Amino acid sequence: MKYIGAHVSASGGVENAPLNADAIGAKTFALFTKNQRQWKSQPLSSRSIELFKKRCDELGFRLDMILPHDSYLINLGHPAEDGLQKSRDAFLDEMQRCEQLGLTLLNFHPGSHLKEFSLDDCLIRIAESINLTLDKTAGVTAVIENTAGQGSNVGFAFEHLAQIIDRVEDKSRVGVCIDTCHAFAAGYDLSVKESFDKVWADFDKIIGFSYLRGMHLNDTKKGLDSRVDRHESLGKGVLGAEAFRLIMNDARFEDMPLILETPNEELWAEEIKWLYRLEQ
Ligand SMILES: [Zn+2]
Ligand SMILES: [Zn+2]
Repeated sequence: MKYIGAHVSASGGVENAPLNADAIGAKTFALFTKNQRQWKSQPLSSRSIELFKKRCDELGFRLDMILPHDSYLINLGHPAEDGLQKSRDAFLDEMQRCEQLGLTLLNFHPGSHLKEFSLDDCLIRIAESINLTLDKTAGVTAVIENTAGQGSNVGFAFEHLAQIIDRVEDKSRVGVCIDTCHAFAAGYDLSVKESFDKVWADFDKIIGFSYLRGMHLNDTKKGLDSRVDRHESLGKGVLGAEAFRLIMNDARFEDMPLILETPNEELWAEEIKWLYRLEQ
């Protein structure tokens, strides 16, 4: 079964996210468990936690199919000691919030070298950050998202993700989320069947399908290998509709969260319906 949803608002409290997801006909969702643009937030209240779990249960959302996203401020590969420590503390807090909510996945962007050290050093540091966090938590998988490779962001090549996973000690609690917009912007052509098949064969060889824990379904405003991260509504960008038809008819993308991060939330309900109609 395909679990499609969108990154919905948790404004007013995490307990509102399942209501927002239900309102657009989603089978799962993504959310921020704290304000994504601030370092510090109030701890989750026990009322919020209980209400979140109760609503997920009542509305039929499986906790292990929900894909929370961490704060944009966190850089687990930060070149400077203070920036790194701040990021690691914030990431641990994000993981612990997931534990409290009964969520089993945490999606994050790997990090940036900020042109202050090498890409390889940055990847090593990210793996260390993951190891430190997994040591202090239980039951939550660190899900690394591929990036568009904009600026000094690492993680745009499958090899980068493989290098990080290689250094993670507990392989059962590390995985990846492939964002279709980011992949296309990084030079992976998912737009037609022939290259789509080649990209996923490479993915399997370099990373392995067993590590794929979720997908972000986004079209893109920018071209192949543009290295620019600009999401577009499905079928309205340069990636195009065929990529999503191929995903919807491929059993390798079943039983994992498939999350829209498309820019026009007015279209989410329609985009979800459209995706399910593509299934043959
Ligand atoms: Zn994404
Ligand atoms: Zn993006």
